[in-house]
Amino acid sequence: MPRVMKALLVVCDGLADRPVGALGGRTPLEAARTPNLDALAERGITGIADPIAPGVRAGSDTSHLAILGYNPCEVYTGRGPFEAAGMGIELREGDIAWRCNFATVDENLVVKDRRAGRIEDTSRLIEALRSIQLEGVEVELASLAYRCALVFRGSGLSHRVSDTDPHATGVKVHPAQPLDDSAEARRTAQLLEEFTRRAHEVLREHEVNRERRERNLPPANYLLTRGAGVVPRLESFSSKYGMRGACIATTAIIKGIARLAGMEVLEAERDYTARARQALRSLEEVDFLLMNIKEADEAGHDHSPERKVEVIEAIDAMMGEFMEFARENYLVVMSDHTTPCSVGDHTGDVVPVLISGPEVRSDGVASFSERACAAGGLGRIRGMDIMPILLDLLNRTEKFGA
Ligand SMILES: [Zn+2]
Repeated sequence: MPRVMKALLVVCDGLADRPVGALGGRTPLEAARTPNLDALAERGITGIADPIAPGVRAGSDTSHLAILGYNPCEVYTGRGPFEAAGMGIELREGDIAWRCNFATVDENLVVKDRRAGRIEDTSRLIEALRSIQLEGVEVELASLAYRCALVFRGSGLSHRVSDTDPHATGVKVHPAQPLDDSAEARRTAQLLEEFTRRAHEVLREHEVNRERRERNLPPANYLLTRGAGVVPRLESFSSKYGMRGACIATTAIIKGIARLAGMEVLEAERDYTARARQALRSLEEVDFLLMNIKEADEAGHDHSPERKVEVIEAIDAMMGEFMEFARENYLVVMSDHTTPCSVGDHTGDVVPVLISGPEVRSDGVASFSERACAAGGLGRIRGMDIMPILLDLLNRTEKFGA
């Protein structure tokens, strides 16, 4: 019996970038000092990937689904379900879920603060909102500071309703409107309108908000909803691949994807080195681990190439913990999408990929970057190709044909 090899997939969120003038025309990944990533690239096989398809600006959610082998075009209708699962709500297929913010509105329902002064503890407010009952629908709620998830469960519902979040301050909250002519969409929009109206009544009078007003803090008196989606049926990761899978992530959305795929979700250590050791300990139990590292994406959204270089160097230092692992097992390092510092949001550029492990055909690429990896042996692949390539290297794939 050959030894069972394990796989570690490290997804560096928004790592990839475009050439930055302030960095002498280099990308942050090219400008950063990355001895460990470069050594892994030299030992491994490299390439570039379209997270979804050429030119498609992937979200972290749709990209992670694709990388894990779930076609986002089939299973993704909105961010809500993944956010709700990430916040710990036990979802059922067909549930409608939204991501929400506790916000501050004035007496004319004009949004003053979309995050209610980044209120930290909303547990008592959520408790109060649980008293709201709607005809024929079960309501579930969970919150994490100003962020919240709302779920409607029942028959005759649809995710085809508009956001009530105007995504701006100084404007009135939007009404929930059906996005198609179906009775289900009309009913869901009406129910959402009723829920938000009653939530506003409950929140406005709540003691927590009375105290906040007295302390001159913006009251959390409104729930803005967005990203409605229907909970899909995802084949479990273990039945799909015959491997026990786990996930280490800091963001609710990635945890939610892993939970809906039936993967074990570990509470990530904040420190990178501690997190790397946590990953290696977990891999003694499971066959496959997905690790998402968020901070490079945040630097991109903040238009900060200097910060991104720092984050990349910290990630590289962490990679040192995996050098031994990657000699007898497989390690994939990639970005889930490009977040150029110049744009401050995701773009559709290809991302670099490296796979290091005992039997990869190394390809002469000796550094890990957007441009260097373009010359690698994997060529140009898609996010959905990662798992099949990995399973083949792990010798877990059945032969097609005789
Ligand atoms: Zn992002």
